[in-house]
Order: sequence, then C-alpha cells, then structure tokens
Amino acid sequence: MLYADIADTYEKIEGTTKRLEMTDYLVELLLKTPVKIIDKVVYLTQGKLYADFVGIELGLAEKLAIKAISQASGSSEKKVVEKFQKHGDIGLAAEEVFKNKKQTSLFSFGKEEELTVEKVYDNFEKIARAEGSGSQNKKIKLLVELFNVATPKEARYIARTVVGKLRLGIADMTILDALAIAFGEGKENRKYVERAYNIHPDLGYIAKLLASSGVESIKNVSIEVGVPIRAMLAERLPSLEQILDKMGGRAAFEYKYDGMRIQAHINSKSVELYSRRLEKLTSQFPDVARAIKSAFKGKEGIFDGEAVPVDINTGELLPFQMVSHRRGRKYGIEKIIEEIPVVLFLFDVLYLDGKDMTEVPYVERRKALESVIDKSEHVKFAHRLVSSDLAEIKKYFDKAIEDGCEGLVAKNIGEESIYRAGAREFLWIKYKRDYKIELVDTLDLVIVGAFAGKGRRKGTYGALLMAAYNPEQDRFETVCKLGSGFTDDQLANLPNMLGEYKIKDKHPRVWSEIKADYWFVPKVVIEVVGAEITLSPTHTCARDMLEKGSGLAVRFPRFTGKWRDDKSPEEATTTKELVEMYKAQIKNLEK
Ligand code: ATP
Repeated sequence: MLYADIADTYEKIEGTTKRLEMTDYLVELLLKTPVKIIDKVVYLTQGKLYADFVGIELGLAEKLAIKAISQASGSSEKKVVEKFQKHGDIGLAAEEVFKNKKQTSLFSFGKEEELTVEKVYDNFEKIARAEGSGSQNKKIKLLVELFNVATPKEARYIARTVVGKLRLGIADMTILDALAIAFGEGKENRKYVERAYNIHPDLGYIAKLLASSGVESIKNVSIEVGVPIRAMLAERLPSLEQILDKMGGRAAFEYKYDGMRIQAHINSKSVELYSRRLEKLTSQFPDVARAIKSAFKGKEGIFDGEAVPVDINTGELLPFQMVSHRRGRKYGIEKIIEEIPVVLFLFDVLYLDGKDMTEVPYVERRKALESVIDKSEHVKFAHRLVSSDLAEIKKYFDKAIEDGCEGLVAKNIGEESIYRAGAREFLWIKYKRDYKIELVDTLDLVIVGAFAGKGRRKGTYGALLMAAYNPEQDRFETVCKLGSGFTDDQLANLPNMLGEYKIKDKHPRVWSEIKADYWFVPKVVIEVVGAEITLSPTHTCARDMLEKGSGLAVRFPRFTGKWRDDKSPEEATTTKELVEMYKAQIKNLEK
C-alpha cells in the first residue's frame, strides 16, 4: 500500500472539524487497506506504532528531524530551522523545504520510487527501537531514507509522526466508529466492537481481527493478563441521601483513596502495573509490583486498586502529590521508595485463574479478592462499610476524611453490579468532601488558551482559558478563565510547560467565543475548584442546554495544585456533568 493513500486521507481529515466527515474518510481508508497491514495503518493514524501499553514510542528529538530534513534536501540546517520557526510545525517546515527542492532540482524528484506504508512503518519502528552509541546517526539515516523518496506532502506527515506530533485530533471512539462501519456488518454490532475495545484497548488489534475474521471473532475477545482493561469509573451525586436512594437503600461504601489508580497484572512469569491511561507503570512502582506478587495466592490475576503514599514515621496517608513525583522517573527510584513508601489499597479483581471476573457481581468479586490476597504492610483492601443507615454512613464519611481520604465511593451490591470496563455509570457513585466545603466538586478542565499577563505577571500568562469536554460533539467548550491558585514558580513556568502545545489559531475541537491571546492543542488537564456554577452569556460550555443563549461558567475558579497528567483531555469533566452539578446546586438552594 502506498503511503500517499494515507497522506491524502490525513490531509482530508485535517481539512474538516466534523466528526462524521472524519469517520467517512477513515472508513474509506480502512476499506482500501490490505488486511495484513491494517493494524499498522490504524496505529500510524493514531500517531503511534503500537498500543500505549506496549511502551514503544515514537518521539524523535526535533533537532534530529531537522538534521534529516537538511541532509535529504540539501538545504542547510539553518534554513530548515528558519522554516520551522516560521511555521511552528516541523511538518510544514519539511513540506516547504522539499517543495523548494523539487522546484529547483534538475531531476524528477521523488518519482522513481514510491513510498509504501510498510517501508515507513518499518523505518519508524527501527527509529523507535534504536538505542545506545551511534543510535542518533542511525535514526537520522533511517529518516533520510524516507525523505529521499517522499513527496513534499508525505514529508509533512512523516516529519510530524516521527517527532510524536501527528495530532490529527481523531479520538479513539471515532476510529472505533469507522471500524464498526467498515467491517461491523451493521449498527447492532457496534456494542461488541466496543466491548472488545474496553477489555482489549488496542485499536490495531481490533482492526485486524475485525477485518480478517469478522464480528464473530470480536465477540470472542477475552481478557488477557498483560493487556490492561479500561478502568470502570464512578458517577457523582451531591448528597449521601441521593446516593443511598439511587443504590436502592443499601450499598457498600468504600474509602475513596487519593492516590494513583493501578491495575496489576500477575502471572507466573511477570507482574506488570498499568495506569488509568493504560501506560505501563511497573518501573516506577517496583515496590508495589513486589508486594502484590508476594501477596497473591493464585496463579493468574488482574487487580484494581489505588496506590497511596504513606508517612514512614506515622503510617498516615499522605497527599497524592507525593506519588506523582515518581512518574516519569527512571533513576533513583529505590531511594524514593525508602523515603516515601506507598500502600496499594485493592478494591477489585477483574480476572482470576482463567475466569473473567468482570461479569461477576461486586459482592462476589470482593469476596474472591479477599480470599486470594494475603494482606500485608504494603497491600491492603479498601476500607468499607455495607450499610443502609444514613447516620452511620455520614459518620463513616467523616472518618474517611479524617483518615486522609477524599470521601467515599458507593458501590451497588445488587446482582447487576458487574465491572463495566470503560464506563462511568451509577453502579459506582463517588461522594467527596468538596461538596461540603465549597459548592462544587473539583473539576478536571483542559487548558485551551491563555491571556498575556500584566503587571507582576508580565512575560508569563495572566490567566488560562479552561474548557470542559463534550463527548457528544467531541469538542472542548470553555467554562472559565483561571488565574488563581498558582505559585509564582508555577506561573513563571507556564509558557515553557505549555510551549509544545502552542498553536497559531484556535484548535478545531475547541469552541470558544472568547478570543485568547494564545491557543493550545487541548491536551493538558488540571484540577480546579470553584465556588459555584453560574449561567454565563460568554462561555460555550453546555450552551443552550439549560437556557437559550446561556452556557455555564465556574465562578471564582482556583487551581488546586494538581496536574492531572493521568487523564487524557477526553477524560476531563464533561459538559453533562457540569449541567448535573448546576441542577443539583439549584435544588440544594431551593431546599
Ligand atoms: P476524581 O477526580 O474525583 O478523583 P476521577 O475522575 O479521577 O475522580 P472517578 O471515576 O470519578 O475518577 O473516581 C474514581 C476514582 O477514584 C478511581 O479512578 C480511583 O482512582 C479512585 N478510587 C479511590 N478509592 C477507590 C475505591 N475504593 N473504589 C474505586 N475507585 C477508587
């Protein structure tokens, strides 16, 4: 298959902001892709080589990409850098450089040989895997090989992909839609495709299976140790009364630990830990891996829990930030482990010795969990109370807060209470302290723009433009300008931190009626608290949903200090959640 086919599709996708059109282009591409390489085409379209949990990533330094462009085109590095600075995009820089070369070249450039998808993928993979001495030159050489044959348009996408910035803005769900349309044999099969994705979140794998063996094979996808499952999430309600009511009058109330979600996969050969975003965490938590391995009495299992830092002197739970320091660390981990150890609080078992436990009700899962794990200093079970007595539950909530937790997660104890991978539903409902202290829960919002600072903040940003996510429309809708809660250091560092996401104009997936001074790719999620949610004529969040011409805004927003780098922008607070919070607030005020 020619890489030109892919490049043409990317160009069309870039030219639209409509999700349905994007899906159509993808369907067209998938249908002309040979089954043998359909997984590769899907990964490339996601800007990757494998599913995230595999841990092989593209991300060549821009400096090296510039060298490769220079060598392949004969333009000086300085010239390439100039183009890069002009466009702020390595892809457009490459395209322009190669266009110029084509015009001035005496030979027919890029015509003798045509670039295939296989060749591009192959060289990308070699680049991603190259390590050690001489690897930089090797990477440049592999990239030059591609540029030598690429057309200027192909060069645009090759350059972006190799530095890890393809960013076509296609959500996983859009690819899933396209796969279901292309190979799903009818709408009614969409749910099987989605279920397969939830327990085996690898779009390349799903694509290949569907394209080669059809829907029946998709129905048989099963849980595998070593393939992370999409985490089940909790809904929210504003009072314990409402939660108890929704749960049918009786429920299990578990401590809501404020740490890092960890999914542990164990078999006789290995232990792997995955984050909520399905990335491998094992090297950052070798202590947790060791502890759960020795606590487990079975052969194969997948467990869900929260890792929380503890004070080595008092044994008390510590703030979440203390574990976030471990993220991305490769060296010095053992020393950090000694200083700030963590406890893994297990609350679920998803797979056990050959049995898919996600279909088993919560009560039985919890029983199974407790029977196969030997509690230890570093592996414990989530504290819980099963009750129908509101007064008792309220007391238990206060105790959870006193013990350093965020609140409670209520869990349905009925037969229907299975583990719904990837879903946020009312089988689990969270209740956090913030409801009491401030009017609203914390929100996880996405940075989409910024405003130039004045006075003391000159040279950095004075405020950020924040958005919530609307999954129906697949877009980010603005909800507040955020300027408080940052330390001076954080403020000074913002332009640097957000630099790589900066774009010239508003991102196509952002809906804003406010003109920001700077725009960003919606990527960075941060936690925000506010005093209340109000109707707003300026913000676009939930526009027209409650009142014609009005959206919703967060009043007096403040950064809590938490960077939610464990959340993708699509996992940010949704417009629907804000509408529910607004309604709940009105109800409370009326009482
Ligand atoms: P928040 O921002 O409120 O922490 P979230 O958006 O990260 O929530 P939610 O699904 O809303 O995720 O809340 C569930 C999260 O709470 C889980 O992802 C998990 O990390 C954490 N958690 C802590 N204790 C428990 C527990 N006992 N059961 C389930 N989840 C728990």
